[in-house]
This record gives sequence, structure tokens and C-alpha cells, in this order.
Amino acid sequence: ENLRKSYYLGKQELPVLKGIDLDIFKNEFVALMGPSGSGKSTLMNILGCLDTLSDGKYVLNGKDVSRMSDNDLAEIRNQEIGFVFQQFNLLPRLTALENVALPLIYAGVTKKERNERALEMLEKVKLADRYHHKPNELSGGQIQRVAIARALVNRPSIILADEPTGNLDSKTSVEIMNLLTDIHQLGNTVVLVTHEEDIAGYAKRVVRLRDGLIESDRKREEMAHQH
Ligand code: ATP
Ligand code: MG
Repeated sequence: ENLRKSYYLGKQELPVLKGIDLDIFKNEFVALMGPSGSGKSTLMNILGCLDTLSDGKYVLNGKDVSRMSDNDLAEIRNQEIGFVFQQFNLLPRLTALENVALPLIYAGVTKKERNERALEMLEKVKLADRYHHKPNELSGGQIQRVAIARALVNRPSIILADEPTGNLDSKTSVEIMNLLTDIHQLGNTVVLVTHEEDIAGYAKRVVRLRDGLIESDRKREEMAHQH
């Protein structure tokens, strides 16, 4: 509600989100689009409790998280949110399995269960046979699948993906979008940032930002009825 975010460069205020009103419902699949610099990643970081808002209100799963401490936010993030980035953000020295298991260390899960759950997630993204590979021994699409497995390993209800196909060729992008579609159909809420209309076409709803405000917000059926 009326979500605002400014960055400060010295004393100078740079308003980036200028009053966003947005409801995202459980089990929606939403694409967030808009020009470079319009505030998409800033909004995603707030939705994912990676960053705090400057003003307004953010209610996540019925809980007002707007003024929460960083520690409380981190806890909510670990329970509710799986994040997938454009830059794959895997740790280069760890194997696929170890990368996927990493969030479970912070959650205090035993090593045996960590490995079991990580392997289960790698099976889900069809990479169980590559569990021992390090990131530089995997293709871009495989790396992104590992990143998705890692995002899922805490069993979060919400998956946030900021340009997950931004570094992939079109065939691999389709694979990743099919995977995100499966995840959505299994009951996750998915919010995706993309520059590409084709990729946004996988979502049921498209929200467009421009200059820190919502320019349009339409369900796919409504778009179809326009033509
Ligand atoms: P892109 O499509 O290029 O990824 P975006 O819509 O994700 O763009 P943001 O990353 O949200 O855009 O950035 C919005 C604005 O906020 C930009 O003008 C950017 O320069 C500025 N900005 C982002 N992060 C910071 C920061 N940590 N400090 C200061 N300014 C920032
Ligand atoms: Mg961005």
C-alpha cells in the first residue's frame, strides 16, 4: 500500500518507488515488466524482504512486515521466500548439491536431512545426475536449475525470480519457464521480472512499472478480450 522507496546519495534523495499499490494473491503467477531503471528489482527486493521500504505498508501472508527489524525480516525470508536471480549467485567452490543444501544450514537442519532434501530438489529440476558438479562444470541452464532448486529447498510459498532467463538462450529460457510453470502449478506463488514479452506470456497477470509507479496491471484474460 502506497509503497515508497528512496535511495540516498549523500544527502540527496533519489526516489525510486513512488507509491506502489499492489495486491498479489496466493498462488498467482505474476510478471513484472517495465523499462530499465523503473524500479523492478527494488520492488522485488522489498517483496523478498531483502530490503526495507522507506514509506507505506507491506503485508506478507497477513503480517505487516513494513517496520520489522533486519533479523525478523531474515527469518521471514528464510521461511517464505525463494529467490532466483539473473546472475546465478551459486558459490563456485561448492557442488550443485552443496549449493542447494546451503539455505538449510542456516535453518539448522541436520547434514543427513540437508543432503536428502537437496537431492530431492535436484531431482525435481532433473539434475540429480549432476549433483557432484561444480558451477563451472554445468551449462547456464543447468546452473539456473540448481539456483531454482536452491530457492525451493526451504519449501517457501513464494518464488521471486528477477530476470531468471536474462542470461540464457531462447531454448534454455523455455526450459526454465516450463520449470517455473510446474512450480506454480504445484502451489507456489511466483513473481517474475522480465524484459521479454514472450517470457511474460507464461504468467497469468502482467504488472508494468514506469518511473516508480504502476502503469498497468492486467490479467491475461483481460488482455485477450482487448483484441
Ligand atoms: P533493470 O531492468 O535495468 O534491472 P530495474 O527496473 O530493476 O532495472 P532498479 O534496479 O530497481 O531498476 O533501479 C531503479 C533505480 O534505482 C535506478 O535508477 C537505479 O540506479 C537506482 N538504484 C538501484 N539500487 C540502488 C542503490 N543501492 N543505491 C542507489 N540507487 C540505486
Ligand atoms: Mg533489475
